[in-house]
This record gives sequence, structure tokens and C-alpha cells, in this order.
Amino acid sequence: MYHYVRNNPEPTDRIGYGLSIEPVLFRAHVAFLAERGFTSMTVRDATRALTRGEGLPSRPIALTFDDGYADFFSEAWPILRERGMTATSYVIVDLMDRPRYLSRVQVRLLSEAGVEIGSHTFTHPDLTSLTGVRLRREVAESRLALAEIVGREVESFCYPAGQNNEATREAVRAAGYRSAVTTVHGYASAASDLAALPRVRVYGGMGVASLASLVGETPPDPAIWSAFLADRPAP
Ligand SMILES: [Zn+2]
Repeated sequence: MYHYVRNNPEPTDRIGYGLSIEPVLFRAHVAFLAERGFTSMTVRDATRALTRGEGLPSRPIALTFDDGYADFFSEAWPILRERGMTATSYVIVDLMDRPRYLSRVQVRLLSEAGVEIGSHTFTHPDLTSLTGVRLRREVAESRLALAEIVGREVESFCYPAGQNNEATREAVRAAGYRSAVTTVHGYASAASDLAALPRVRVYGGMGVASLASLVGETPPDPAIWSAFLADRPAP
């Protein structure tokens, strides 16, 4: 679970820092995952493989990017593409075309290039506080609005701030999504509830050593990764 891939523009913005990976460090993350033979998949493809009982590639990984920030297009995607990797970007439909957010045109281009576009609602509310028509709008209608933009079916959903309960999970299923991700720490498997998939969080400044441990790998070779090994201290 990534958010921004950027140099945090406001040093005093601790929340922003906590959600940001510098592009140079993100490049190291991706190179490390490639070195260890990870195969990146979209959440859509991983979900299909789990649902159908199909085999998964060795070391499957689904990189997700929440909130639809513009730096996914300008920073993250070029780095991923160089390595032949893909990702799932969860966009907030009403924030597209706003400053710092992906534009509709970028979202469409990403989708055409093989990035999965998932819904992160219209307005990023706490869904557990909504009922009836308002819940349905954020979950089901955002899926249809996004499908219009990308020109294909939208299969994956992401709960704002991970907040979900039985009513929201049911709304996700009823809307026709095949999966929904949370912020619960864990690894998805065939035994997971597809309407509440766990993830692991990449925090601001996370070095390659912490990333390795997060994805269950042995520690990186310090000789190769020295510049990117340690967590970068918060400003
Ligand atoms: Zn979010």
C-alpha cells in the first residue's frame, strides 16, 4: 500500500511525509522486488487467480496506490514500466482533474497501458457512517462513473481509510466489485474475504531493509543497497 511517490514538498507536514516515498527510494524498492523475482500483478488479476483457484506466479505482489495522486503518473508509473511491472491505482472520482490529482485523461491512459484503475469512492467519506442511497452512490455509482472514464469494467474497490463493516462489505458485493482492500495488516490468500482484503503498508521514507522484512524476504545485501537500506528519518 503506497500513497504518494514524491519528495514531500512541506517538511512540517508529518502526515504528508508519512504517506510519501521519494522517487529515488521508490526506484530502489522496485529494483529490489525485481532482484528477488517478484511478479507484479494487478489486484484484479490476483483476485481472479485466487477466485478460480488458478496458480499464481512465484512471489506474486500487487502494488497499490491510494487516492489517485498525479505523481503516480509522473513518478511511479515510469519506474514500474521500465521493469515491466504493473499496479492498481485507486482513484477518488470527484477529485480527478484537481491540483495534485490524476486527470481523467491520465487515468484513461494508465488503464490503456495496463494499470488497473479501481474505485476509492466519489468523495472519500467514512463509509461506515453512510447508509442507503448515500452509501450506494459512493460505492456503486462511483464504479459506473469510473467505468465510463476508463472504458472498461471496474472490478476493484478500496475503502477510504480502510473503514468498513458488514453493511459496506455488502454494498461492495452488491455493486459488482470482485474485491475490496482494507488497511488491515496481512497477506491475501485464497482463504481471505475478497470484500475485505488485507494489505501491508509502506510508510514514509521506508528503506529497502524494512521493505524486505515487510514482504518476507531475507535482508538485502548491504554492499548493493547501502544508499537505500535504512529508513529515511522524518524531517
Ligand atoms: Zn484514501
